[in-house]
This record gives sequence, C-alpha cells and structure tokens, in this order.
Amino acid sequence: MKHLLIIGAGGVSRVATVKSAMTMAKGEAFSKITLASRTKSKCDEIAAFIKERVGVDIATAEVNADDIAAVADLIKEIKADLLLNLALPYQDLTLMDACLKAGIPYIDTANYEHPDTAHFEYKEQWARHDKFKDAGLMALLGSGFDPGVTNVFCAYAKQNLFDEITEIDILDCNAGDHGYPFATNFNPEINLREVSAKGRYYENGKWIETEPLSEHFSWDYPKVGERESYLMYHEELESLVKNIPSLKRIRFFMTFGESYLRHMKCLENVGMLRIDEVEHNGVKIVPIQFLKTLLPDPATLGARTKGRTNIGCVISGSKDGKPRKVYIYNVCQHEDCYAETGAQAVSYTTGVPAMIGAKLVAKGIWAGNGVFNMEEFEAKPFMDELNANGLPWEMIEMPC
Ligand code: NDP
Repeated sequence: MKHLLIIGAGGVSRVATVKSAMTMAKGEAFSKITLASRTKSKCDEIAAFIKERVGVDIATAEVNADDIAAVADLIKEIKADLLLNLALPYQDLTLMDACLKAGIPYIDTANYEHPDTAHFEYKEQWARHDKFKDAGLMALLGSGFDPGVTNVFCAYAKQNLFDEITEIDILDCNAGDHGYPFATNFNPEINLREVSAKGRYYENGKWIETEPLSEHFSWDYPKVGERESYLMYHEELESLVKNIPSLKRIRFFMTFGESYLRHMKCLENVGMLRIDEVEHNGVKIVPIQFLKTLLPDPATLGARTKGRTNIGCVISGSKDGKPRKVYIYNVCQHEDCYAETGAQAVSYTTGVPAMIGAKLVAKGIWAGNGVFNMEEFEAKPFMDELNANGLPWEMIEMPC
C-alpha cells in the first residue's frame, strides 16, 4: 500500500483524487493521499468534497512544481511513494527531476511543453530514460485518455486482436454543450496551443504536415451521431509510431463545434493566441495567458455541461492472413461525471486513467526501470480497470 502524492488541483486532478480516494476507501493500492498544488485552497476544497462524498481524509500541501528542490523536499518530508503529475505540461521535467532526486516513480498525462515554444514531443522526457533506469525507478508517460487510454486500446489490439496492425485513426469527439459561445474544456492555454498548431500525421515512413484544422471529414460516433472531425497532431502518434513499427499510417481527429472554430479563428486573427510577450501600457503580457484569465475556468463547466463524449480508435491490419478492422471506444456522459466527481467528462476521462496508471504502478502490475509510454505494458489489466472505474469500453468489428 503506497502513499500517493498528486500535484495540481484543477479539473483533472479533482477526478483523479476523488477516484484515488475511492480506491483507498476499498482498501486497495493507496494507504495515504496527499494533494499539493500552487494554490492550497483549491486542494482543501477538493479534500472537503472527498470527505463529504467518499468519507476519507486526504492531506493537502502548497508546493511550486517548478522548484525541483521544493518538490523533492516535500516528497521526503511526507514520505510519498509515487508522484502523479496533474499540473501543466510545463512542469513535467521539473517533476521528473524531483522524483529522481527523491527516488520515487513518476506518472503524468501530457508530454512536456516549453511555455515559449509550441513543440509537442517526448524527446526531453525520453532523454531521462537512462537516469530512471540507473536509479531503478519508473516513469509512466501519458496516463490520460488521449494520450493514455487510446495507447492502451492500440496495445490491446496489438496483443490480442491482430497479427499485424497497419493503420490507426484516433477519433476524439466531445459532443457536450456548456452553453457558452466559447470556452475550453481543459486548461485554455494548453488547449488553444494544441488546437491552433499545424496538423501532422504519419504515412509510409514520413510525417506529413497540414495547415491547422484544414483537413476534416464526417464520422458517425456511436451514441453521439455524425460530427465533423478535424485532423490534428497529437502526442500519442509519436510513441505509437515508435512502438508499433508495422504501422503504415496513423492519424488523429478531433471534433469541434462551429462556434468554437469561429471564435478560435477570430482570436487567432487578432493575435490573442500569441505565446510570445507583447508590451501593453508598459507591462509585458503573453496574449494567450491574458485570454486564459478572461475565459471561463474549465473547472466550473461541470455543472453546465450536457451531452456525451466518445473517444476511440479505428484499427486496421490482419489476423490469420485475413484483413481485420475494429473500433474500440468509450462513451461518457457529462452529467454522470459531474454527479459523481463534480467535474465534466473531459476532466473525468483524463482523471480516471490517471488514477488507474498510478494504481497499476503502486501495485507493481505495471513495473519497469526507465521511462515508458502506456502501450509498452500489458493492456488487459488497464482495460479491466476502465470497466471497473466508470469508463467502460466497447468494441465493434468494422467492414474492411
Ligand atoms: P488546470 O489548469 O485546471 O489545472 C492545473 C493545476 O496545476 C492547477 O491547480 C494549477 O494551479 C496547478 N499548477 C500550475 N502550475 C503549477 C506550479 N508551478 N506549481 C504547482 N501547481 C501548479 O488543468 P487541467 O486539470 O485541465 O489539466 C491538467 C493536466 O491534464 C494538464 O497537463 C493537461 O495537459 C492534461 N490533460 C491531459 C489529457 C489527456 O487525455 N491525456 C486531457 C486533458 C488534460 P493554480 O490552481 O494555482 O493555477
């Protein structure tokens, strides 16, 4: 039984912390949970919610995740056994280094991003592989939904359904309606940097770049319906290309409503998505950070959001010499997520897998020395945990 330290107290953290507390209440995996973030009052609010709903006590603390020494000191002081990073991708490297310094495993849900450059890649996290290996420690990268569950769906297909996988399309649909003309359903700065970036997909050994949101098609999402889906780059493409070498093509698509796209285009056209500093009345500001201050806090969307998400993978290849195509997906209802955890489905679909990743590491079911992506482990235990923790998956055979 392990002491879990969770860093960050936003929407994703709320779900992961509630679910970890439920796991602890069942006498599984965790003996203690500490929730630490920059603003301690947000941790205390989540702790009070857990006390009322789950009936267990968790500890809280204030910490700056950009400060390696401060995080390592906190880990040692409270004697944490593993760290779940649910702050921002900017903190991935400092938190990995703090784990190395204090000698505990590390888990996150998003690849490292530098605040000044919109590069989405695992390079700097993978570069720490030998340090984790030499220290006899494990780092598990991308234990959210996408990346995360999507990688596990692909691993499950590779391990159980196919002899060879040649094509994967990851399809992410949020058909929830929060009633605002424009809001993002997770951290606005991270979301808008990702969505406004150039598209990229992998085909026949090459990466092909596309203009932002320029390629799209309509897909009929089970239990949701037809939605226009836009090609984007997403970080799991990088690790899946590395770990499924038979792949000939892999792409990622996400749905957007007409109002979201119109607002995003306007904001981009007037420079509000810029990530460099500009001077305004003698003060230096970063436009996208100022925009984040103006937009609704994603953590407050839960009560207003109605409808479903459907995220999954269409996987093609061959089995026993015959072509095969399967669609593995999860459907999640915003209102149910809010009733259970006080957060909407985008936080829920990320926070539940974050808890599951931490649980499998805590129990030693997923184990190794070094830095790993999700598809490098046996998928079945994770797939079983999804069914048991509110994210059941379905699979359909598709015509080839
Ligand atoms: P939020 O912005 O709601 O929460 C981030 C939290 O991190 C806040 O509590 C914030 O503190 C805290 N934080 C930020 N900087 C620091 C710091 N220097 N030190 C300590 N705490 C800090 O984000 P979300 O909950 O929406 O997202 C959390 C993570 O999940 C992100 O990395 C995001 O990219 C990832 N994600 C992954 C998905 C997936 O499927 N894989 C999908 C969606 C999100 P404060 O409250 O003071 O601002």
